[in-house]
Amino acid sequence: METHKENCIFCKIIENKAPSEKIYEDDYVTCIKDIKPASTHHYLILPNKHIRNAKELRVEDSELYAKMISTMDLILEKQGLDPEATRTGFHWPPFNTVDHLHLHVISPIENMSFINKLLFTHSSYWFVSVRIYNI
Ligand SMILES: [Zn+2]
Ligand SMILES: [Zn+2]
Repeated sequence: METHKENCIFCKIIENKAPSEKIYEDDYVTCIKDIKPASTHHYLILPNKHIRNAKELRVEDSELYAKMISTMDLILEKQGLDPEATRTGFHWPPFNTVDHLHLHVISPIENMSFINKLLFTHSSYWFVSVRIYNI
């Protein structure tokens, strides 16, 4: 299975071939600041392996997925974010913005604009909350 893809902006960021503000990285995942923050805090947790979207997660990716979730908890703790006031989730195809799986961490919800609240609606057709999402 391919682990990276040419012309994928997130793969380039992970490989340090494109600029970004990384706040965390290890062998499995990378966490960057969103370039267009929807609230005071807006981070993206990316698997280092190129997975197109949440729909393409496979059973063999379950460890990687668990790693993304534990990183999310770590970021919440590191940034001092209240989980109750934080929106987290994935885009659901075909509503992807970038063709590389990324978990949004946005906080606090009350600072989000109306349009951003709509874009990142809790468990809608296009945005799936991680708390209810299992593979
Ligand atoms: Zn990629
Ligand atoms: Zn996104």
